[in-house]
Amino acid sequence: MTSQTPIDRRTALTSIAVGAGALGLASCAKARPGAAALAAPLLSSTELGYDARTNEYTLPPLPYAYDALEPAIDEQTMRIHHDKHHAGYIRGLNRALAKLSEIREGTGDAGLIKHWSRELSFHGSGHVNHALFWLTMATAGNGGGGAPSGALAEAIDASFGSFEKFKTHFSAASGAVEGSGWGWLVHEPTSGRLLVIQGEKQQDMMMTGVTPLLGLDVWEHAYYLKYQNRRADYVKSWWSVVNWSKVAQLYTRANG
Ligand code: MN
Repeated sequence: MTSQTPIDRRTALTSIAVGAGALGLASCAKARPGAAALAAPLLSSTELGYDARTNEYTLPPLPYAYDALEPAIDEQTMRIHHDKHHAGYIRGLNRALAKLSEIREGTGDAGLIKHWSRELSFHGSGHVNHALFWLTMATAGNGGGGAPSGALAEAIDASFGSFEKFKTHFSAASGAVEGSGWGWLVHEPTSGRLLVIQGEKQQDMMMTGVTPLLGLDVWEHAYYLKYQNRRADYVKSWWSVVNWSKVAQLYTRANG
């Protein structure tokens, strides 16, 4: 849709496509002055809880009350999911970054670099995924639900045939994720096309270079208290709280 420029590519590759990629941008900001000005990450440092003074990540507060997404997602699930699970990913991310720093400095165990690299990928992606997840939801009927409009709606029609076909595809993909994972709507920068991807765990099966626009957490911790084994019911209810204006904003940034 738009010509590819070096800045577009940098933006795509350092965006939230793969958690560690975006985090690399922030963690290298001191070493590469000007990098932040060149690249425009899809989530801001505030949205990602990045603290430049400590070079660590903190847990951003939810952008709404814990019970704001009822009845689609219950208050207790939101409290545990945000305050415990998301916080845990951030601790894991900061720890992995610290351990890799120790290895670089010669004080850490270099034999564990594979372990800590995996931890960076898993927990870094876990943090970015959840930061995005909270931001792309809103109270039903008050910013949440309905259908997209404008350029995003046109892109969904062009990529999937119609919004209804997209919903069917996305719901099926999310429902069929094997084990713990995510359903994703992503933007592929070369074609400008939107794709639906299944994610396993926090980062597996993601496609290099794409930019996530909308993700649905289908780990059991996201729905089991209310829905038990009925993941399909959770997916169906979740559509009522999708914050399409936020997704449209992410699409505009991704599509240049
Ligand atoms: Mn989760």
